[in-house]
Amino acid sequence: MKWNLSSEQMPQAWFNVAPHLTEPLQPPLHPATREPVGPDDLAPLFPMALIGQEMSAEPWIDIPGEVIDVLRLWRPTPLVRARRLEQALDTPARIYYKDESVSPAGSHKPNTAVPQAYYNKAEGIRRLATETGAGQWGSALSFATALFGLECMVYMVRISYEQKPYRRVMMETWGGNVVPSPIDDPDHPGSLGSAISDAVRDVVARGDSHYSLGSVLNHVLLHQTVIGLEAKEQLALAGEERPDIVIGSCGGGSNLGGITGPFVPDADVELVAVEPSSCPTLTAGRFDYDFGDTAGLTPLLQMYTLGHDFVPSSIHAGGLRYHGDSPIISNLVKTGRMRAVAYPQGKVFEAAVQFARTQGTIPAPETSHAIRAAIDEALRAKEEGVERVILFNYSGHGLLDLGAYDNYLHGKLVE
Ligand SMILES: *Cc1c(COP(=O)(O)O)cnc(C)c1O
Repeated sequence: MKWNLSSEQMPQAWFNVAPHLTEPLQPPLHPATREPVGPDDLAPLFPMALIGQEMSAEPWIDIPGEVIDVLRLWRPTPLVRARRLEQALDTPARIYYKDESVSPAGSHKPNTAVPQAYYNKAEGIRRLATETGAGQWGSALSFATALFGLECMVYMVRISYEQKPYRRVMMETWGGNVVPSPIDDPDHPGSLGSAISDAVRDVVARGDSHYSLGSVLNHVLLHQTVIGLEAKEQLALAGEERPDIVIGSCGGGSNLGGITGPFVPDADVELVAVEPSSCPTLTAGRFDYDFGDTAGLTPLLQMYTLGHDFVPSSIHAGGLRYHGDSPIISNLVKTGRMRAVAYPQGKVFEAAVQFARTQGTIPAPETSHAIRAAIDEALRAKEEGVERVILFNYSGHGLLDLGAYDNYLHGKLVE
């Protein structure tokens, strides 16, 4: 019920979705002039190698050997068939999940943190600044910078800083510095948008630092395609010709882009994004140019957005509380290649607990959005009496989210 690849079978190149889109991506615009940005505009924030990947039309991009060496600490990750969940649902569907929770930080995020730290180090940068929501991205980047000998400064959304002290301890264990954001308003619960503003201000005020983003951007989704590339190989080992449907939770779109990206050219494979109903970017946002942060310091991206000043309610899936979305994911949804659904958190935790009581592991609240959708697809297959191959991304474990489970199990979860 589990398919592993050997270390030698790790992908050697990332899969670029951009050349496979039916409508081209529109360029980011400069925040002041609203003209398309060039590489030089982005150079204060990112190394040239990542700017090149951000704009690349190459179908494949080689993964540097030093990056592969670090990813091999936990990759390739397992593909698991959720046989006991299938039995509990009494469904003819076959449910597979790609287990990204086995990384050091416990999620898919190190897949991009490692190459980002590598390319910054290679271009002479000594310090990275970033934002983090629930603390997953901050811990991934703290881990990656520790391995490459860089300093790491993390602006953490205040509500999570207060609710999730153990993520902060993880970051500090790997040598990261963590402060609650917004730094200039101690009574504000914070948002990813305002934490990004804090991190960008930090970087432009100094010469030795770059900014690092854990989701949304094209190069981040590119790095995450190792997930989908491995899953394709593993499904073949499991005797499946192809999945009928591929599902991922969507905050900024990176784990979703990572698992679905390599399936975009396969027209028979349905792609599904799952988001919280309290932050319904893809299902209720508008498709428009908007800033990536609250203060309007970042380039404008064409994407689905709830508005850059949107402050989502303090739900437990902190990693899904972002006003915007990846331009690639937005493009796929806009052109009809991908479908988006939204769930309230009670339904999500119900799925999480059903998963834990059948498959055993306790998923992150973010991941549980994908599990909810996978369960509903499996139930639909049962109703229709059809076999269906369902693949979802198990983006992370929930062992540092037990406060959220406590609230759910004891009737204290607010919708
Ligand atoms: C950050 C996170 C997400 C959401 O971020 P994406 O960029 O949309 O993938 C989902 N699951 C887990 C476990 C996360 O840490």
